Amino acid sequence: MTNILSMHKDYRVLPYILHGLGIRDVKFAGKSAAELRDFYEVYRRFCAVLLLFSLKNWGFAADDAASCYIFSPSLSFSLDDVRLQLKTVKNDSYFAFVLDFEASKKYRIILYPYGSSSESGKKHFPSADEVHCLYPVRSDDNDGIYVGIESLDSFRRLQQAVFRAFVYASDGKLSACPFCHSNMFVSRDGAFFCENCSTVISEKNCFDTHKPYFSSTVRSYSPSAHDRDLTASASILYRFRNITAMTADGSAICPHCGKIH
Ligand SMILES: [Zn+2]
Ligand SMILES: [Zn+2]
Repeated sequence: MTNILSMHKDYRVLPYILHGLGIRDVKFAGKSAAELRDFYEVYRRFCAVLLLFSLKNWGFAADDAASCYIFSPSLSFSLDDVRLQLKTVKNDSYFAFVLDFEASKKYRIILYPYGSSSESGKKHFPSADEVHCLYPVRSDDNDGIYVGIESLDSFRRLQQAVFRAFVYASDGKLSACPFCHSNMFVSRDGAFFCENCSTVISEKNCFDTHKPYFSSTVRSYSPSAHDRDLTASASILYRFRNITAMTADGSAICPHCGKIH
């Protein structure tokens, strides 16, 4: 555990929670099968804690705070017009967090913590809008979400998916900015934007598949060289305010065909 974690304003409480869960470091080499099983269990708890933290930090409030503890079979939250049902599904073949967002539309995200038979588990939720595996170490070999104790940005990676679900469940029509809670305005081109923090949410159409999608950006924000270097692996070009993948020059990549429109 680094000192940075205990100093960060958002993370300040987590070191104490993680210490209680027994998480101090992530090392796989030389682990027995039993030790790995123990690690998977601890990692699931870490992901559950971080997921709850991410939702609370995003602004969601539990409808019944008294029953809000990790691995609750089902929890409900709300924020503005968006309701969220969070379920932990655990059986012999897989372990998953199921996030059902609902406002004017429904949007479902499935998260499989590492070691949860995730590859075979994907078939259990064929109608999900997003399916992600959560990995405790950064790797370029997978397309999951890096959620590890050594990265301060882990909860922001989870929030990036929450942001996307928030936009899609709201059908792109957000009355309040999800980042600063100022009013959102509609610009001449139909995009929703926040005058306070310059977040912009636009609906677009894929020219190839003719399917609609949403993209987000930050108006007048120029990514630093450091951010550009990290973009390929970390998708943080706009400090996690982008809900699509981005090119290094800040263009949104269509989620349907992988092109720039
Ligand atoms: Zn804002
Ligand atoms: Zn496209």
